[in-house]
Order: sequence, then structure tokens, then C-alpha cells
Amino acid sequence: MNTTRSSTSREETLESISTELSDRMLDPLAVDAAARAGVEGPLGVVWDGWSLGSGLAGIALFQLARASRCGDDELLSTAFDHLRHAVRINNASPSGALGLMSGASGLAVVLNECARQEARFRPSARRMHDRIVDATLETSWDFAVTGVPVPSVDVISGIAGLARYFATTPWGGARTRVALDHVVHYLSWLVSRDVPVTRTFFNDPETYLPGSIDARQFPHGHVELGAAHGLAGMLHALAESARSGRTSIDVSEAMSRLLDVVHGPQSLDSGKSVVFLVPSEDGDTRPDERAPGRLGWCRGAIGLWLAVRDAAHVLDDDGLGREAEHALNASAHALATERSDDPFLCHGVGAALAVAVGDGARSSATADAALATIADLRLPALPFLFAPPAAGTGPRDVDPSFLSGAAGVGAAAELALGSPIDWTTPLGMT
Ligand SMILES: [Zn+2]
Repeated sequence: MNTTRSSTSREETLESISTELSDRMLDPLAVDAAARAGVEGPLGVVWDGWSLGSGLAGIALFQLARASRCGDDELLSTAFDHLRHAVRINNASPSGALGLMSGASGLAVVLNECARQEARFRPSARRMHDRIVDATLETSWDFAVTGVPVPSVDVISGIAGLARYFATTPWGGARTRVALDHVVHYLSWLVSRDVPVTRTFFNDPETYLPGSIDARQFPHGHVELGAAHGLAGMLHALAESARSGRTSIDVSEAMSRLLDVVHGPQSLDSGKSVVFLVPSEDGDTRPDERAPGRLGWCRGAIGLWLAVRDAAHVLDDDGLGREAEHALNASAHALATERSDDPFLCHGVGAALAVAVGDGARSSATADAALATIADLRLPALPFLFAPPAAGTGPRDVDPSFLSGAAGVGAAAELALGSPIDWTTPLGMT
């Protein structure tokens, strides 16, 4: 096999996808208007205008990744322009949310990356960080609580995302450590008390349920096991906190308890099938071979096993680490042999492309498989190149967002092309 030729064609495909997306996302006002039109449309694009996951901060991160790789000063200004609009929209309708994808800590991630490139962003990046620290320390966690909704503790909008931010932010001073301890203390307490994890964390039947799962299976609600919306993300956040050396709290017991839940029947199948929902009452896990998004990061094998691999590393458990590696290889194989209609980061193959970067021997095959799917799903007639999954009928909405839209695909392509902006570490896609 001619590897030089195949890697050249891979780079050409990545470059053409990133170029097209970048060219279509130059004007923040136009991107914002198009996304808002999508929110009104039948497929309900998720867009708040400013956040990392669902706003212009995510477009800024993609353009920044591209501008940094290409050394393109004009595009760097475009990235900053997107960020300024994101901050403006956030200031106009302030949100108290602190989460990574839907709150202030995600915006801070992008501000910090921009500040690395351009010193004049440092004061506002510092202010944003201080604001997040203050808001965190002012929060009195409820230690009498019997159950907490998973979105308040997950990576997307909850405190697992906040822990990731404090563990990875460049502002790593004493107050950051205190804030991280504050979050980790509560997260560990929630996990470690003498109540089944499946009764501590819950979602309404309607919340975060993929369409093909019958909500009637979960009359009392369900628990998410995935890396983005669920317990694996909490596990990953605790592992990252421990690894950062910034927390004084021993998280090993909490990690072991989370491992017991997320690392149940999956081990039987080395990541090929993923159990991602647990009924919140009986704790009986339900594997689903046909689960949507199981090739993805959010609820899929990749995110879950990345979390387990990190936990194994922190807990010094070589056997578990080997199992996670084996499962990640199986995930890569599944990616090469199965189809997905979702190119995006959260539920699609976009995360596989991002994760593949620098991931050793399997990276090349994984990247090729993910990229082949992404290239197949490209629809040049659409404003942002990709349709949301299952958009085959009716008017097509467009989604430029980072988490579940085109900007994330662009950012993954940029990573694969060698962009120096590492956005995967704060987000837990590494
Ligand atoms: Zn998701």
C-alpha cells in the first residue's frame, strides 16, 4: 500500500473541508443569523449565540485553530472578531451558567487560547477566569440533596466541565486550586456517599434520550453513562483533576465507584457495544447494540474508554489500562466497518477524527475511517456543508456550532492537519 499517496489524499480532503467551512464562517453576524434561523427550523439547531458548544465562541476556536496552523493574520483577526461578538452577545444577556460547552468556562477556554496568540486579550481572559472562580466559590453546594439532575454535574453544562476547566486552565494559581477543590469535593461527595449512584443522578425520561430509545423504558428517569452528558465524563473530570496536581482531595474512592458503574457490561465487548443509559431506580444496565451515536464521543465507546483509560492511569491499574486500549482499538475498528450519518463532535465521527490525532498506532486508520464518513456526508449546497443527521427529508437546517455542528468538524480537521491549538484536552477528547 502506498502510504505516501494515501496520506496526501487525506490531507487534501482535510484541507478542502476546513477551507470550505472557514470561508463560509467569516462573518460572525451572518453565522449568527443563519444559526438562529436554524433554531426556528424543524430540526431545532441548538444555538445561544455566544457559548463554546453552541455559539460564536466555537466558531472563533475553529478559525483560531486554522489561522494558527496557516499563519494567516487576516484569519486570526476573523477569529478574534467571532470571539468579540460572542462576548458581546453574552454581556447583552448574561448567563449564570458556568459549564464547559454551555457556560462561561467554555468561553474562557477560547479567550485563553486567543490570549496565547494575542497579548491584548490577556486582561479580559484574566477577568473572565476570576469571574468564574468567584462564582464557583460563591456557590453553596447542597449536601442534603437526595438526587441531582445529570445536566448539573455533566461535562456539557455541569460541574464536571467546570472541574475540567480548572484542571487545565493556564491560570493555575492558588485561587484556581481552591475553586477546583470546591468543585471536586462536591463531585466526590455525590459519588462516594452510601447511596447507589443510580439514585443520586437522574434525568427525566425526556432529557437526553436519543430518539430511538423508548422513554417508557425509563419511567423513573435514567442515568447517562456517556462522556459528555454522563458519568463517564465525571470520571474523566476527576481523573484530570487528580492528574493536574491542582487538587488536594483524594479522588480515588469516587473514581472507583464511578468505574463500577460505567465499566460494567461494556468490558464484555471491549467497546464495541456501549451501554449508555441506566434506569435510575433499579440500576440494571441495558446494552443496546443499535444505540445511536455509539461511534461518537458523547455516549459512544470512544468517550467512555478515554475516561476509563485516564482513570486507570491515575489509579495505577495496568490491567484496566490495557483493557481500555483494547476497547479503543475495537472502537476504531467499528468506525471503519460501520456507517454513521453524523459527522459532528458530540454524537458523530468528528470526535473520532479529533481523538485520532497523536493517538499512536491506530490513529491513521481511525482518522481515515472518520474522514471517509465525513467526506461522504459533505453537501456543498448547504451553507455550512453538513446537514444534521436524519435531515434527508423536508427543509434542511444548518448548524454551524462547535459541539453538534460544522465548526467542530472544521476544528477536528485542523487538528488532523497539525494545528498547534490543542482544544481536546480541556474538553476531554484526549
Ligand atoms: Zn451529546
